[in-house]
Amino acid sequence: MDIHEPQKKLRIGWFTFSCCEDSTIIFTELMNDHWQTWKKVLDIRHARVLQTHNVLDELDVAFIEGALSSQTHVDRVKEIRQKSKKVVAIGACAVVGLPSTQRNQFDPERLEEIRPILEKFSYLPKAQKLSEVIRVDVNVPGCPMDEKQFMHVLGDLLKEFNIPLPSHASS
Ligand code: SF4
Repeated sequence: MDIHEPQKKLRIGWFTFSCCEDSTIIFTELMNDHWQTWKKVLDIRHARVLQTHNVLDELDVAFIEGALSSQTHVDRVKEIRQKSKKVVAIGACAVVGLPSTQRNQFDPERLEEIRPILEKFSYLPKAQKLSEVIRVDVNVPGCPMDEKQFMHVLGDLLKEFNIPLPSHASS
C-alpha cells in the first residue's frame, strides 16, 4: 500500500431494536482495549450510543441488536438490510428472538394485561427475530453477546473487506 494512501476503513453501523442493550454496553466496553486500533480501521457511520451525528448510507456491515416489535422496526430493518453488504445479528434477542419475544408465548389473560402497551406503541401481534424479516449473514449469539465471538467475527469481516490492521494491533 502507498504510505500516502489513506487507510481503508470498514463502514459500519450499530443498530438497536427491542432489547435491553447489554450487547451495546459490551461493544462500548471493548473500546477500552481496542479503540486505538478500531479508530484506524472502522468508519462508524451509525451508532447512537457513541455519537450524535449518525447516517444510514452505504454500509459494509450492519450490526443489529434486539427483536423487531413494530411495523416501524420492520421497515427500518429492511432499509438497513438494503444499504448493507453484510448484516450481523447481535445477541440472543436478534438471533433467536428470546428473551425479547417472550410475549409471543403469553396466554390470553396475560396478553390482555399488556394490550394497552401493545396499542400505545403500535406493536405487531408477534415480535420477531431478525431472520424472520431479513437475510442475516452472521450470528453472534449469547445473552448478552459472546464477546470472543464478536471479536472473531469482526476480525473475519476486516479480512473479508481487505482492511489491513495496523502493525502490532489485534482487531
Ligand atoms: S440478548 Fe440478552 S442481553 Fe442482549 S438484548 Fe436480549 S436480553 Fe439483553
